[in-house]
Amino acid sequence: MRKPLLLLLMIIAALTVWAPASAAPLTLQAGQSHYQPVGALHYWVDPNPSSTEQDADAALREGKFRVAERWPPTYGFADGVYWFALDLRNLDHPDQNWLYVIEYALLDHIELLVRDDDGREMRYRSGDREPYSARSVDHRHFNFALQLPRGRVVHTLLRIQTESSVQVPVAIYSDHAFLETHQRSQLGLGVFYGILIGLLLYNLLLFLSVRDRSYTYYIGYVATFGLGQACLNGLSYQLLWPNWPVWDDAVLLLAIGSSLLCMLLFTHSFLEMPRRQPQLARAFRAGAWLLAGLTVLSPFIGYRHAILMETASVFLLALMVVYAGIRARLAGYRPAYYFLLAWSFMLVGIVVYASVSFGLLPKNFATEYGIQFGASIEMILLSLGLAYRFKLLREQNLQLHLEATERLEVRVAERTSELNRAMGELRTANRRLHEFSLRDGLTGVHNRRYLDETLAHAVAQARERTAPIALLMLDIDHFKRINDTHGHLAGDDCLRAVADVLRRHVREGDDFVARYGGEEFVVLLPGAAREDAARRAEILRSEIAALRIDGHGEPISLTISIGLAAISGEDLHSGPDKLIRAADAALYKAKRDGRNRLVCAD
Ligand code: GH3
Ligand code: MG
Ligand code: MG
Repeated sequence: MRKPLLLLLMIIAALTVWAPASAAPLTLQAGQSHYQPVGALHYWVDPNPSSTEQDADAALREGKFRVAERWPPTYGFADGVYWFALDLRNLDHPDQNWLYVIEYALLDHIELLVRDDDGREMRYRSGDREPYSARSVDHRHFNFALQLPRGRVVHTLLRIQTESSVQVPVAIYSDHAFLETHQRSQLGLGVFYGILIGLLLYNLLLFLSVRDRSYTYYIGYVATFGLGQACLNGLSYQLLWPNWPVWDDAVLLLAIGSSLLCMLLFTHSFLEMPRRQPQLARAFRAGAWLLAGLTVLSPFIGYRHAILMETASVFLLALMVVYAGIRARLAGYRPAYYFLLAWSFMLVGIVVYASVSFGLLPKNFATEYGIQFGASIEMILLSLGLAYRFKLLREQNLQLHLEATERLEVRVAERTSELNRAMGELRTANRRLHEFSLRDGLTGVHNRRYLDETLAHAVAQARERTAPIALLMLDIDHFKRINDTHGHLAGDDCLRAVADVLRRHVREGDDFVARYGGEEFVVLLPGAAREDAARRAEILRSEIAALRIDGHGEPISLTISIGLAAISGEDLHSGPDKLIRAADAALYKAKRDGRNRLVCAD
């Protein structure tokens, strides 16, 4: 009797050991293939970091396990070992292959012990510090196979030890249901990363042609943000470095730090802060240096410290960035519209994600991937903002260019008119100079040079018009004597007085007077026939003879002799020399004949 009793006692003891604190196991029923063990999952925290299975069993027996009331079960950054007990009973579900899934990818060390009432045991190890191959299904979330034939009960005991925040969203799936559900979430993630990669390549190409610094930061932001998300999703560990479990934490820290840094620099550059908000820009630069330091050091200062500091930076940075955006907008900077709109989507995404983490919102496809939704829209809007900003810059450049051209044109016009004025003045001066060079300095009548230049032309013109032309050669009589008697200054006055008389009698137009040299003058009378010229010469002679020139108290009177030559018709062909010579000869004859007279050449 004692042996069977002992056996019975042992069975009872064993049952007590395996009977968890919850009397109610999670019951799997036909028609439902996916369960969240709300109310059935129990937990116990052992502060001892080397807590063992025996400790947990003892705690179970002593009823220390509590129902995990908050869902999903989150405990923040906490020390110690977290134990979770969950019993499962397949009531009448036809599937016997099930998966125990933990839908959070950052847990370091996971051990799962599965036992049934027949004493069969299965042990699993997993976690992102354990080799990737330890998973039952090749999937980004930790998962463990469970055999649950109809009518069978299994007891699971989960041990979690992690530096990350303790989040243990346990889910139980039939194989089929797991496949179906995760197909959808994979598609969602695929769309998200597709958008990211698309934006990345698109803006990379734009950067190559535009070379604007904002694009560099934007590209850096999208790339590092995507990488950080891939770490959080568990995708990077699954796909990129499944054999290097230690990498994941370091990469996550580096990715978060760098994406924050890129965002800060992007804001600094996109909002043109150095020019528009210089003081805030200084704060941004200081923040960027701090972040850069934190990022570089993050893999070495312990995961928990680093992730807490980075998380704090997220909030600080979000405040700074939104504040800068609002200020830029208030100051009238138009691209800030896109910037703020983009950030509001991102913030909504973050709020939704945090609400799900804290159990304030139900976990579903839309809320679980809130950050991904928000970030996709944010990045698309930022990309649009970049394009818009570039458009504005180009317009401003064009405007500046136009203004510069206009200013240049105005200046060219001013210079041209100045130049024209100067040229006009120069022309006038030249003309005066030329006229001056053709005048006699003492008397103001034309000089010998003018006579030489004009005479041939006048004769040619007379020839063309078949008109006569007359030339008077005049010489003051005994001028040497006047000089000798009254001095050269008085002589000069006489020359001027004679010139005045001559000028007065010369008609406007083609007629002119020139001083031929010394006290000799020439009067040219184009169109005048001999008789007319003689008449006018006689007037000149008598008028000059009537002059009384003031010779310093003594009136000076003088006379002139005139030689007249007039030609017309055929004679005009012989040119001006003949005219001069004939007039000269006539003048000599007048002198010989007694002076103060007119002699006409033949
Ligand atoms: P004739 O009746 O034969 O012409 O006698 P003349 O004394 O007038 O002739 P002559 O050729 O011997 O003298 C000309 C004088 O004119 C000599 C010269 O001193 C004077 N003379 C020439 N040019 C000027 C001048 O510009 N100013 C003054 N004051 N005298 C001049
Ligand atoms: Mg003379
Ligand atoms: Mg003389």
